Amino acid sequence: MAGNIIKEITDGIYNLILGLAVTFKHLFKHAITLQYPTERWEMPERSRGTIVLLSDPETGRLNCTACLLCSKACPVAAISIERIKNPDTKKFEPQSFNIDTTICCYCGLCEQACNFTAIKLTGKYEFSASDKSKLLYDMGFLQEIGRDVKYEKREKTAAKKKAVAKAETGEDVGGAPVADAKAESSPGSGEAKKED
Ligand code: SF4
Ligand code: SF4
Repeated sequence: MAGNIIKEITDGIYNLILGLAVTFKHLFKHAITLQYPTERWEMPERSRGTIVLLSDPETGRLNCTACLLCSKACPVAAISIERIKNPDTKKFEPQSFNIDTTICCYCGLCEQACNFTAIKLTGKYEFSASDKSKLLYDMGFLQEIGRDVKYEKREKTAAKKKAVAKAETGEDVGGAPVADAKAESSPGSGEAKKED
C-alpha cells in the first residue's frame, strides 16, 4: 500500500519534471505561432485551393473562350457554363460561368483541361461561409478573386493550337456543331446537375 503511494508520488514528480523540461526546451526558441489574420502562411505555388478565373492583365477581359473543356473534365459536374457566339468576332464568349464549390473536390482537372490558362486553383483559402448559397461562385466573383493571381500563359503545341482554333471559332471540341448566336449550356448546368 505504502509502496504504491510512493510509486505514484515519484511518477508524478518524474512527469512534472519531464513536462517542465519540454517547456524549458522551447522557452528560448523562436515561436512558430502566426498572428493570424495580420500574418499569414505563404501557400505553396501549386496549392489547390480556391478556384479563380484568370483575366488578361492588359485588357482585363477573361481568358476563357467558353470551350467547355473544363466542365466536361469535371468529375462532379461542379462547373456550369452558358456560352454565346459573338456575331462580330465569330468566337464563343461565356455568358455565365458558375462553380458549385460545395461539391468541388479540388482535383484540379478543370485547370489541366484548359488550353487557355483561364481557370486556376490557387493558394487562396479564406472563403468560408455559413450560408451554402455563398459557396456557389458566379463569373463576376470568380473573375474578381482571380485578378491578383499571377500566372504564365501555357505554351501551345501545334496540336493544341489546332484544337484551340476549332474551339474558338465554332466547332465544338467534343465534335458537335454549335448554333450561331445561341446560348448553350455545358453538361454541368443541365442533366448532370439534376442527377445530383
Ligand atoms: S477542381 Fe475538380 S471538382 Fe473542382 S471544379 Fe475543377 S474539375 Fe471540378
Ligand atoms: S476550359 Fe478554359 S477556356 Fe474552356 S471553358 Fe473552361 S475555363 Fe474557359
